[in-house]
Amino acid sequence: MAGIYVHVPFCTAKCAYCDFYSVARRDMADGYIAAVGREFEARRHELGDGTVDTLYFGGGTPSLLSPEQFAALSSFFDKAGIKEFTIEVNPDDVTDEKIDAWLAAGVNRISIGVQSLCDDELRAVGRRHDARQALDAIAMLASKGIVNISGDLIYGLPGQTVESFTSSLRRLIGSGITHLSAYSLSYEEGTLLWRRLQEGRVVPASEDLTVAMYTALCRQAREAGFEHYEISNFALPSYRSRHNSSYWREVPYLGLGPGAHSFDCEGVRRYVPSDVRMYIRNDGLTAVVDDENDCDRANDRIMVSLRTAEGLDLSRFSAGQQREIISAAGPWIESGDLVPTARGYAVKEASWLVSDAIIRDLLL
Ligand code: SF4
Repeated sequence: MAGIYVHVPFCTAKCAYCDFYSVARRDMADGYIAAVGREFEARRHELGDGTVDTLYFGGGTPSLLSPEQFAALSSFFDKAGIKEFTIEVNPDDVTDEKIDAWLAAGVNRISIGVQSLCDDELRAVGRRHDARQALDAIAMLASKGIVNISGDLIYGLPGQTVESFTSSLRRLIGSGITHLSAYSLSYEEGTLLWRRLQEGRVVPASEDLTVAMYTALCRQAREAGFEHYEISNFALPSYRSRHNSSYWREVPYLGLGPGAHSFDCEGVRRYVPSDVRMYIRNDGLTAVVDDENDCDRANDRIMVSLRTAEGLDLSRFSAGQQREIISAAGPWIESGDLVPTARGYAVKEASWLVSDAIIRDLLL
């Protein structure tokens, strides 16, 4: 099995916390789409003869593409074996016409960037939509028969309280979503929010507040029947993201478009430089091989697997690497943060917030 990720690098404006690659140049979309087609033809062999079963258009803002542009972009890919075709959307882009175009192209899963259902919090980080638009968009998607809807939330936003977060969470779960992604806000260097932090114009959420929100998140999601299957991801039974689960299991995927990353059938990673002008100028042929050795690859595996409920499978490491991991895991097992499983170790749900420290210790 294999997946394809397409990075659509256009946004209307930059949200204050975001460090994903995107530009406010929708006029470049047609040139970009043509370049994706050429890149796909040149690189599809990287997937070997694995059947492609997931397609994911992320960004940036794929929902900014017009229905015609969306049809052109999706036409490059054969949908015959695709079991899950996801598109990331912003609430204010959701219209009848666009939903029809997505459905006509074979989209069967929507990931909608809600982030909060409190208008002050949305404004504080420069989101273009309000709470009403987000809930209306979800209702519109559902009315078109789409059941596989994932909602994104952020906790730790400026001015957010446990009460406002849990209220957003309750209303979002009540909207009928079947999958939830909830991320702790991070202040990434170079973002507007990071600059505000340097200038003392924003106060980050305290550790206690973050823990309280995370604890409430886990409890509310569990009570609503969601399984917590990755540090930031929750799903109703049978609604886990196939595409993201494939990343975590090291299934090959081909990443197209500026800013995309790939992992080919021989374990080689590549990335496409974050430069849409260069991408168009070079007909989409700008991917670069990531210079990784065995140790880097093993560390990637440790980082990714310890963020999942399945955890780390020791049999995927060499005997020498296993010895190092087992030795580093000892203190974390004693503290109860790391739990032995049939195949290795998993981080306890309550300890996922400190998983960075555990992972750091286990890296080779
Ligand atoms: S959060 Fe989404 S919409 Fe906002 S700038 Fe980043 S990619 Fe664009």
